[in-house]
Amino acid sequence: MLIPGQPPSGKNEATGAIMEKSNSQHKNIQGPLAEILQQTRSLIAFHQNMGLSYPLTPKIKNFLESAGPDICKANKRPKKTAKKKQSSSPVESAITLADVRRELGDCRRCPLHGSRKHLIFGSKDVTHVPLFIVCDPPTREDEKSGKPISGMAEELLLKMLAAIGLDLNKVYITNIVKCCPPDVRPATAQEIGTCQPFLARQIEAVSPKIIYALGPLAGRSLLKTEAPLLRLRGRFHEFHGISLMPSYHPDFLLRHPDMKKPAWHDLQMIQRKIAALNVPQ
Ligand code: SF4
Repeated sequence: MLIPGQPPSGKNEATGAIMEKSNSQHKNIQGPLAEILQQTRSLIAFHQNMGLSYPLTPKIKNFLESAGPDICKANKRPKKTAKKKQSSSPVESAITLADVRRELGDCRRCPLHGSRKHLIFGSKDVTHVPLFIVCDPPTREDEKSGKPISGMAEELLLKMLAAIGLDLNKVYITNIVKCCPPDVRPATAQEIGTCQPFLARQIEAVSPKIIYALGPLAGRSLLKTEAPLLRLRGRFHEFHGISLMPSYHPDFLLRHPDMKKPAWHDLQMIQRKIAALNVPQ
């Protein structure tokens, strides 16, 4: 079994034998082997995007590349396993992101308005995307860029998303509060609570399948718990009928590269959930 974070070894005899056999029969790959190969390709992409590299023999490389399309096809879940409760067909929301932005206006509802330079509403408007990302409060760097996440943290997030086949057209990104707190302090519970109705409206407008909460403030405040992120991550929680995965903020991952392995585990769970929901990509 593939263990997340462990690269496949070309020297492993059993794996080598499977690849040897499958290399000539890759058009018939199905089931668990297809899933293992899909995970292997994703893991390699993730590691490469993280700046990690390890040698791939030409034989393994050729196998992984040539088997790609058939693996993806075979890896699709049969229709009968898709959850009936959560339809993948878009349902029009009565509210749009533009409506929410208008309602927010030049918001002065909490003390954070006094220290902000710019209010950051979210990434570009999209609806009915599979993934809604809620990051911890914006930083001064984010404020300068006008984005909910910026710089190296944004680069890392985009690489992580690319590893599971998502880009900015398929995700919406915003923050738990829309204004940067002063003096690098965390946002207070009162500030988060004041801003949260607008976040709830954004979620309603985007109508995502999964919420990916990045950072301890984002995860804990959405789930209304004081539990450490360490205990919250690694499983889906329910948030008003939507699956929510708390995980580490890319900024934290840049400072703690050893935590990329559990972050990858969380991301893989999201990838599998999106596949199981049969969401159009
Ligand atoms: S953080 Fe939210 S509630 Fe507070 S001032 Fe900014 S937009 Fe308004």
